[in-house]
Amino acid sequence: MKYGVNENGYYGDFGGAYIPEMLYPNVEELRQEYIKILSDPSFKAEFDQLLKDYVGRPSPLYHAKRYSEKYGANIFFKREDLNHTGSHKINNAIGQILLAQRLGKKRIIAETGAGQHGVATATVCALKGIECIVYMGEIDMERQAPNVARMKMLGAKVVPATSGSKTLKDATNEALRDWIGNPVDTHYIIGSVVGPYPYPDMVARFQSIISAETRTQLLEQTGNELPQYVMACVGGGSNAMGMFYHFLDDEDVKLVAVEAAGKGVDSGHSAATTFLGKEGVLHGSRTILMQTADGQVEEPYSISAGLDYPGIGPQHAHLYKINRAKYVSITDDEALDAGLLCSQMEGIIPAIETAHALAYLEKMTFQKSDNVVICLSGRGDKDLDTYIRHFGF
Ligand SMILES: *Cc1c(COP(=O)(O)O)cnc(C)c1O
Repeated sequence: MKYGVNENGYYGDFGGAYIPEMLYPNVEELRQEYIKILSDPSFKAEFDQLLKDYVGRPSPLYHAKRYSEKYGANIFFKREDLNHTGSHKINNAIGQILLAQRLGKKRIIAETGAGQHGVATATVCALKGIECIVYMGEIDMERQAPNVARMKMLGAKVVPATSGSKTLKDATNEALRDWIGNPVDTHYIIGSVVGPYPYPDMVARFQSIISAETRTQLLEQTGNELPQYVMACVGGGSNAMGMFYHFLDDEDVKLVAVEAAGKGVDSGHSAATTFLGKEGVLHGSRTILMQTADGQVEEPYSISAGLDYPGIGPQHAHLYKINRAKYVSITDDEALDAGLLCSQMEGIIPAIETAHALAYLEKMTFQKSDNVVICLSGRGDKDLDTYIRHFGF
């Protein structure tokens, strides 16, 4: 694959595994085993069966008629919001729990922002009867309270991260600290295409089911498996990478990644990584991240916990740098309006993360014949309090 990872774990200038000495055995074990395990027929069979019977795949590709009329193109939603647990995160969590089992791990740790990855991880741990500890920023625990309750109901222990901005990056730091302290029996289920190699590639492979299905479904519905545009929101970038994956080598397909501008890219309260960031190392890989002049990680801000992250995965950094994908951003207010519009025009309440991707439709111009696929990464139930507060329902 032209845009895939090379044998050293790099995408162009980005990627690699920048890890403390004590994590080396864990990461090296993963690096040596992941391709072998993923290509094993018994792994594939169990993964496919769980995606079908437990997650509910294939997720529908829905031709949004009223949106199509409004925006003057054929708009399709890839309905990851209909997955069990309500987002794309479950695809990766299933893949990694099966991997952890085959590596003989007895304990699972994870970080979570919106709580969707924590819920997905707690879910697969319950499914397999494996101990689960989820690290979550204290602020995120407040704004995503229903997901905290869900994780506890599923039997997971939720540990608040109380340092820094008390959000996703701090939860990630805590999880990495735990892994260093428990190197042998613990697998760390990272929730996005971030972290040291091989995580970005492994998570992208698990999420690539999104674009694999989309190609088949587009062919059935339009007679052509290639759309003109593929769009997705980007926190760390896993739903976007899953949505882009099988279109990367089709250079005519335009890829649009939507970041969170927060209160505006120049407001000092933003998470628009490609706009504000510079090259550096974050959470084990060389990528683009928001940082101060002396290299300290800058606190990001977005109303959506899932996009409130100061970096992007290394493959995204590469796609950005070589211009294979376009990176844009949407503010809190624009996203909230788009969430309301989608609810009232299509009867689908999207996650606020997803609403960022939807909002960018307003800024595009299409030809009537264009086919446009948007990854509907998650449902908005977890965000109802935020919507209610904003719109005053
Ligand atoms: C977590 C999450 C995101 C952001 O994560 P990515 O890894 O960038 O996909 C986007 N949408 C939803 C619904 C999420 O739960």
